[in-house]
Amino acid sequence: MVRMEQPAETMSDEKPINKPLEYEGAEDIFEGKFSDIPFESPITPTQLGLDDEFQFNCHPGISCFNECCRNIDIQLLPYDIIRLKNRMETTSYDFVARYTLPFQMDQHGMPGLKLMTKPGTRECVFLGDECCTVYEDRPTACRYYALGSMGVRKKDSATVEDMYFVVKEPHCKGHDEPRTQTVREYRKEQGVDKYDVMNREWRDIILKKRSSGPTVGAPSGRSLQLYDMCSYDMDKFREFIQSSGFTEIFDTDAIGMDRLLEDEEALLSFAMRFLKQVLYGEMTIPQREGAREERLEKRRARIHERREMEAEEEHVSSQAYDMPDEGDAESKKN
Ligand code: SF4
Ligand code: SF4
Repeated sequence: MVRMEQPAETMSDEKPINKPLEYEGAEDIFEGKFSDIPFESPITPTQLGLDDEFQFNCHPGISCFNECCRNIDIQLLPYDIIRLKNRMETTSYDFVARYTLPFQMDQHGMPGLKLMTKPGTRECVFLGDECCTVYEDRPTACRYYALGSMGVRKKDSATVEDMYFVVKEPHCKGHDEPRTQTVREYRKEQGVDKYDVMNREWRDIILKKRSSGPTVGAPSGRSLQLYDMCSYDMDKFREFIQSSGFTEIFDTDAIGMDRLLEDEEALLSFAMRFLKQVLYGEMTIPQREGAREERLEKRRARIHERREMEAEEEHVSSQAYDMPDEGDAESKKN
């Protein structure tokens, strides 16, 4: 199973769609990405809308049952992490450490996570003897399969539109089953809607970064750390918004801190707002009056204090350097 739910463009280790999509303005985004299309691409070239039908059925009696979970390459999205870490009754930090592998989503080192496989295989770590052991909380990519989706933003447009297509891999016999449904019906049956809503803001952030190109430049190390925390570590983000570094700046009453601490989905949504504020200057989180000036003043005071300490240390070490040693003192006596 390859991950076929993604923002705007294919990942470097995945196979691209095998013909340019007919989509007004899309060529501006996709330019050059479809010129070397492999014939073995598992994606059918037909673009589907929500009410288009496709033929597919998957059920426990099918001969290929679980085959798709034995060769995975699945990127995890922020809401996937929340669902799975709660399923495993652990923290987001522990879940990420035990069940995921990091990778870089772009040349600027934007951190991504993939679902871990069992040692020495490409089999999903959650595949049990008979079936998926986390089925009710399976990731977005598992819910979509055998559909793929792609969010596309037309050049100079703020709107992101969804496209769908069928992913046909040779091992999957579900395409031969005599059952048709619309994309909308399939999404509902697989519980995709909730996942898409929860991951949408995150996808928009990635999409915005990709489409902004080199003019925006690489995010700072600090921005990447914040991105990592906001995307994949809700427990740490919960602690972060309770720290003095946050509460001294932001208006915690106005942002409804109590609700954020209780409701993880609201917290994820807030984390995305915070990320947009940090990365793109979209100022939607109210700050305390005078907080910025106060912070600058504190920073100046800290810098001043540090400089004074450094000057003091320099003074002491130069005295030590000038100090005559015992031999000098003796020779002066003589
Ligand atoms: S039909 Fe396809 S999706 Fe279903 S178990 Fe078989 S390989 Fe997996
Ligand atoms: S999470 Fe479940 S459905 Fe998804 S690849 Fe793993 S075993 Fe298969």
